[in-house]
Amino acid sequence: MSRVRWIVERARLRAARYMMRLRPDSAGGPMNAAYDPNNIFAKILRGEMPAHKVYEDDVALAFMDIMPAAEGHTLVIPKVAARNFLDLPADAIGPYMQRVQKVAAAVKKGMGADGLTIQQFNESAGGQVVFHLHFHILPRWEGVPLGRHTGVMEKPEKLAANAEKIRAGF
Ligand code: AMP
Repeated sequence: MSRVRWIVERARLRAARYMMRLRPDSAGGPMNAAYDPNNIFAKILRGEMPAHKVYEDDVALAFMDIMPAAEGHTLVIPKVAARNFLDLPADAIGPYMQRVQKVAAAVKKGMGADGLTIQQFNESAGGQVVFHLHFHILPRWEGVPLGRHTGVMEKPEKLAANAEKIRAGF
């Protein structure tokens, strides 16, 4: 992604966060709110936005989080249009969670981590910012506290290098 596009996207995400605070019942409201096909992860799925991909099959796509809270922070998204975990059709849970586990194992191995933190947020009240279901896979090392989500974009070279390490972990 070009630097300019990153800056525009960051501004868009910040504006979305702000709007959610102002309008909690519309922008980021009830658990049954409609799926927005123009959310950023849907665009990544359609190839309209770039991503540092580490895994893809017919069920899920995994790619590097652009504002990592830990080195090697990876997101796993299902290919079905699910806004959050409660939205995911029951028969899609098993296949998707298998991919989450598979990617998690590769992240741990590829990044040489001692452990993992796996997170998933639902609706703005639950900390969700992008409304396409995703699990966060965060590599952890003994004695290293989890970083804060600063909203700072990671350098593309760094994301590419970590993606390569994780791909080698499969
Ligand atoms: P949340 O919705 O709070 O569970 O988290 C959304 C995550 O998506 C955050 O960790 C962001 O850093 C990340 N993110 C937002 N836009 C992108 C993008 N274009 N590529 C990769 N990660 C992104």
